Amino acid sequence: MPVLVMKFGGTSVATLDRIRRAAKRVGVEVAKGYDVIVIVSAMSGETNKLVGYVDETSPLYDAREYDAVVSSGENVTAGLMALTLQEMDVPARSWQGWQVPLMTNSAHASARIEEIPTDNINAKFGEGMKVAVVAGFQGISPEGRITTLGRGGSDTTAVAFAAAFGAERCDIYTDVDGVYTTDPRICEKARKLDKIAFEEMLELASLGAKVLQTRSVELAMRFKVKLRVLSSFEEQSDEAGTLVCDEEEIMESNVVAGVAYSRDEAKMTLLSVADRPGIAAAIFGPLAEAGVNVDMIVQNISEDGRTDMTFSCPTNEVARAEKAMNDLKTNGELNFAEIVTDADVAKVSVVGIGMRSAAGVAAKMFKVLSDEGVNIQVITTSEIKISVLVARKYMELAVQALHDAFELEKA
Ligand code: ASP
Ligand code: MG
Repeated sequence: MPVLVMKFGGTSVATLDRIRRAAKRVGVEVAKGYDVIVIVSAMSGETNKLVGYVDETSPLYDAREYDAVVSSGENVTAGLMALTLQEMDVPARSWQGWQVPLMTNSAHASARIEEIPTDNINAKFGEGMKVAVVAGFQGISPEGRITTLGRGGSDTTAVAFAAAFGAERCDIYTDVDGVYTTDPRICEKARKLDKIAFEEMLELASLGAKVLQTRSVELAMRFKVKLRVLSSFEEQSDEAGTLVCDEEEIMESNVVAGVAYSRDEAKMTLLSVADRPGIAAAIFGPLAEAGVNVDMIVQNISEDGRTDMTFSCPTNEVARAEKAMNDLKTNGELNFAEIVTDADVAKVSVVGIGMRSAAGVAAKMFKVLSDEGVNIQVITTSEIKISVLVARKYMELAVQALHDAFELEKA
């Protein structure tokens, strides 16, 4: 029997009614002849509540116990989904991560999947079970402790199962009906994409489009898992939603596929650091050790052997970054005049695999922003992406103007 993986996010299993609705969707696929692996998230809000309990009990918690607590939301929905399917006369049973067993490393709270043996579940399919309902987000470490895969990790569970079982497709049911050219909440012309390439989705996911956990897209790309994002709130056809797939499967696409943004960025500049070999390592090594996720980096031109170094990071990491830099100064390991922080910036990016072969995308982007009077503070590019840092108050304007200029409302 062909295997299909269907993943239901927190809003899709938020109530018993919604679980019934989701189970009906599963029943439709079973009737088509699939053996189905259903991956469930916890009911929406549940994981946040559990994280809150842990924080309140023990601020410097033992991550092994954090995982024991926060993984439990998925156990509830997995059992309820299996019961609901049984009530509909669909042969189903639930599996917690350790029962599969979904083997991970020992990095509690952000564990990586190492192996998913298929024999247990396949044996049950062989005996006539139609649906294996698996608790998402959780696994078991080599030490035999429960682990979790990081927030949003059920997406990664789903893709990993699809890869392990050679599933025909991995359907991710969520509360939006697909992947859009940009966020419809800030640009009313945003258009749902029928298809998007893995690489584009990877950029969009890591740039802050929150539909899929970034790691799930990485995994889908590596194992060529066909991934579909669709809504659990609408009647669905086989073409519904957005297919995330290999670029070869997309015949014609716009040069730019989407505009992404990330609101909570900060820009920090170290004024007057020595321009000498090793200076970047001396700054960014300690920042990495302090857990600061540096994104863009610019070294300005140098004068009299001194230069300014600018970088961006998430706003909630500014304090850590400042402390790391000031500690270096106090220890005499780094000499700079001062740190200037601007925590009021946002990043706006255009993404598209078509950029590899089309010239002039950057020039057009800069012209559009200049016509709107938006000052660009920092620029970075990759083969398929151009990102700029702008004052936060211009973020929405920039997204809308770029969406218009690249005519993303048109297929
Ligand atoms: N329930 C977990 C979370 O909220 C995992 C998931 O839903 O993907 O992060
Ligand atoms: Mg999610």
